[in-house]
Amino acid sequence: MKKHNFYAGPSILPGVTKEKVAEAAINFAGTGLSVMEVSHRSKEFVAVMNEAVSLVKELLNIPEGYSVLFLQGGASTQFLMAPYNLLNKKAAYLNTGSWASKAIKEAKLFGEVVEVASSKDKNFSYIPKNYDVPADAEYFHYTSNNTIFGTEILKDPEVAVPLVADMSSDIFSRPIDISKYAVIYAGAQKNLGPAGATLVIVRDDALGKVSRPIPTMLDYKTHIDKESMFNTPSTLPVFACLQTLKWLKGKGGVEAIQKQNIEKAKLLYDELDRNKLFMPNIKNEEDRSLMNITFVMTPEYAELEKEFLDFATNKGMVGIKGHRSVGGFRASTYNALPIESVLALIDAMKEFERSK
Ligand SMILES: *Cc1c(COP(=O)(O)O)cnc(C)c1O
Repeated sequence: MKKHNFYAGPSILPGVTKEKVAEAAINFAGTGLSVMEVSHRSKEFVAVMNEAVSLVKELLNIPEGYSVLFLQGGASTQFLMAPYNLLNKKAAYLNTGSWASKAIKEAKLFGEVVEVASSKDKNFSYIPKNYDVPADAEYFHYTSNNTIFGTEILKDPEVAVPLVADMSSDIFSRPIDISKYAVIYAGAQKNLGPAGATLVIVRDDALGKVSRPIPTMLDYKTHIDKESMFNTPSTLPVFACLQTLKWLKGKGGVEAIQKQNIEKAKLLYDELDRNKLFMPNIKNEEDRSLMNITFVMTPEYAELEKEFLDFATNKGMVGIKGHRSVGGFRASTYNALPIESVLALIDAMKEFERSK
C-alpha cells in the first residue's frame, strides 16, 4: 500500500534525495567508494559542501556579508550557541512553544532574557501580538514555526533590533528577508534532509561583540573560517541536503514551493473547518502553520479519536498522531509532501465522516 508520510521530523524527503543517497552510499561521484568512506577533505566532498552552501545562498537570496554553515548538534545546540556568540547583556525572546521555551532556558545562562510575550496560558495555541521589544536588546529571538503546536509566524517580525530565528521546521518553505537577521538556524530533519546536519546562517558582523571567551567548537567564527570543515562535518547528511536543495531549485525555488504549501494547507484546513467530526487546533486563521497542521475531534465525537487513527493508518497514513502535549492529530505538510498525500488524508476524513 502507498504510504503517506506525515511525520513531524525526521520526515518525508523528495524521492530523488533518497535515490541519490542510495547511489552515493555505494559509489559516490565516480570514486568507487561510499560517500560515508571518503575524506571530507577530498575534492569530491569539498565540492558537495561548496555547492550546498551556494545553493542555500541562491535559494534564500542571501545578501553579501553572511556565512552559511553546516554544523552538528541539532537546533538544540543552537539554543545555546546563538546566545554564547551574541548575548552580552540583554536579549528578547518570544515564547510560542516548547522549543522556544528551551531556547529561553539556554539563553538565561548567558545574560538577561526578556520574555516579551508568551502564549503558554493557552497551551501555545496562538501567536502573541503587540508586544514590545526593548530597544537595548541585542537581538530578538523567535521560533518561526511551532512544530508541536501548529502555529507559524509567516512574516519576518517588524522590530528595531536584529532577529535570531529557529526556522527548523519551515526554512525553505517561503521567502524570507535575510537582511533582518543576525542568525537563522535549522535542524535539517524537517524540511531539508536527514537528522545530523544543522544549517546555520550568520551575519558576519554580528560576531565579535561578546566579551566572554567562547569554546572553539561553539564559536561561529571557527566554522566560518574553516568553511564548516573545522572538524568532520556530517558528510552523508550534507550530501542529502544538497540533493534536496537541487530538487527545490528544480521545482522553481521557495516562491514556487510556497504556492504549493499554501494550497496543501488550505485544502486540509478547509476540510477541518467543514467536517463535523474534526476541528483545527488553532482557531486564529492567521496563526495557523502551513507545515504542521494540528487537529482534534470535535467534542461530541471525541471518543472516535482512536478509531480514526486506526482507520487512517489502514489507509496508509503514517505519523498523524499528535504530539503528547497537544493530543489529537498532526499532519506535517513539509515541502516534500505531495499534494496527493493531503488529498488522501482528506478522502479518509470524508469517508470516516460518512460512516458515522
Ligand atoms: C525539531 C525542532 C527542534 C529540535 O531540533 P533538534 O535538531 O532535534 O535539536 C528545535 N526547534 C524546532 C522548531 C523544531 O521543530
